Amino acid sequence: MSELNLILLGPPGAGKGTQAANLREDFGLPYLATGDMMRTKRKEDSDLGRKVAEIMDSGGLVDDEVVCKVLIEAIEEHGDDGFLLDGFPRKASQADILDRALEQRGRAITAVILIEVDDEELVQRLAGRRQCEKGHVYHVDTNPPEQEGVCDVDGLPLERRRDDEPEVIRKRLDVYHAETEPLVERYDEAGLLQRFDGMQDPETVHRHIRKTLSTLRLEERL
Ligand SMILES: [Zn+2]
Repeated sequence: MSELNLILLGPPGAGKGTQAANLREDFGLPYLATGDMMRTKRKEDSDLGRKVAEIMDSGGLVDDEVVCKVLIEAIEEHGDDGFLLDGFPRKASQADILDRALEQRGRAITAVILIEVDDEELVQRLAGRRQCEKGHVYHVDTNPPEQEGVCDVDGLPLERRRDDEPEVIRKRLDVYHAETEPLVERYDEAGLLQRFDGMQDPETVHRHIRKTLSTLRLEERL
């Protein structure tokens, strides 16, 4: 059985979560999203939890060592037959750590999926996003709840996350361009990069990714 050890790359708001849900269904891969993992961590009443909360509230990124630790544990626990990483690695130093950790386990990344979207489109998408405290996500234009400001599923109030506010979004995009884009080049040179146009509708993006990964899996088996 060939492993699909995948990294999902793209700016915040590119639709990585949506595509990950599709891929999880198509290929049965565990979705390891460091954003979700850290949001859970921030609620913990611990030094680490408070530290994560402080960094996230300022629009910054949680430090490498902390993220790596959480992630490698999850791969060991759930990722024997493959995995889908989202939110890690975000920069070269993290990619180094991940490569080493996988190599020690006789494994390697199979492919890197890059979803590309223009900055202006991203700001529009993210600033309109609302979610309840249980994580049900809506968009004021493209996916509004039945009643404004109220979650359809559980009736909880919908709020804009601090890191979806426009000034924080721009900061996140600056960080993405400075730190994550060099990774794109690195994985391209390694022959691992698969590019997808995230300006297209999600279903079209999904079809393209599924087709590419199906082909990759077949090639791995040959
Ligand atoms: Zn809800």
